[in-house]
Amino acid sequence: MKIDFRSDTVTKPTPEMLAAMMSAKVGDDVYGEDETVNELEHKLASMFHMEAGLFCPSGTMTNQIAIKCFTQPMDEVICDQTAHVYRYEGGGIAYNSMASVRLLHGQRGILTPEMIEPEVNEENIHYPKSSLVVLENTVNKGGGKCYTLDQIAAIHHLCAVKGIKLHLDGARLFNALVATGDRASDYGQYFDGISICLSKGLGAPVGSVLLGSAAMIKQAKRVRKVLGGGMRQAGFLAAAGIYALDHHVQRLAEDHQHAKALAAALTETNYVESVMPVETNIVLFDVAKGFKADEVVHALGKKGILCNTTSNKTIRLVTHLDISAAMIDQTIDVISKLAI
Ligand SMILES: *Cc1c(COP(=O)(O)O)cnc(C)c1O
Repeated sequence: MKIDFRSDTVTKPTPEMLAAMMSAKVGDDVYGEDETVNELEHKLASMFHMEAGLFCPSGTMTNQIAIKCFTQPMDEVICDQTAHVYRYEGGGIAYNSMASVRLLHGQRGILTPEMIEPEVNEENIHYPKSSLVVLENTVNKGGGKCYTLDQIAAIHHLCAVKGIKLHLDGARLFNALVATGDRASDYGQYFDGISICLSKGLGAPVGSVLLGSAAMIKQAKRVRKVLGGGMRQAGFLAAAGIYALDHHVQRLAEDHQHAKALAAALTETNYVESVMPVETNIVLFDVAKGFKADEVVHALGKKGILCNTTSNKTIRLVTHLDISAAMIDQTIDVISKLAI
């Protein structure tokens, strides 16, 4: 049996989640008539103290819709150089929004007002208009690092002074909330848009929700339609999201414990140079001199442990709902005994 740490997207619905999906009340969501989709959107919006929500097929789509809503062609988006919206969304900012991107070099992807302020363009016809800052929480390429609410409040303040919108790529926001103890209800005040994935650590098979003001979500619905993301009886999928919010949030702490246990075991081996401090469910480590990341991944794979490289010397392991405590014990055993 393989133990799959490649991503927290690989989870399969539990029998209880499937039962909730099968008994969902559905309707045509393009007509706004799917009561389960409406319930999911309202549930998340009220949790985060935002006005409205929009259920979409993917986190890429919720991010791209937000960027489209918050920019005009010739504008500029400010984000960290590792940001998912820049690196892993297929050039979507250029294609969908005709905006340029200003890349910052955050600490493990964490930005500060001091980094952002000098990169905000003054009004001048030569310059693209700085209209949007995008943050990521947790930071995927930062090894699952979390923002504090104080850091977010400071960036929000700068954006408000400069008249710039602030969007949060919260693909793993619930991991951050569980790790920091911050409340979802404190988030809404700081962001114009928040994107949340249900199909990562929360364990739903499909779906992300974009949160924003009622006016913004009205426009977002038009953009979703243009992108072909209007779904019909989507309540079967939304039911999985509701089930996940009710049952799979607090247990994320277990994934974080598992990730810390893997990191501790990796630190003890001869083939690992360093492990990024673990805050949530992502373990990023560099291989020692003389080892190649793909060789280590291959050796682990032969022992049934699946993971991915993120560069020629870096490997990522992600813990999730389908990784049990027994699987962690087995993986630690393999990690400790691995000879490469
Ligand atoms: C996974 C992820 C997304 C969304 O990805 P989809 O596969 O399109 O749902 C967005 N941002 C980050 C940081 C992610 O890790």
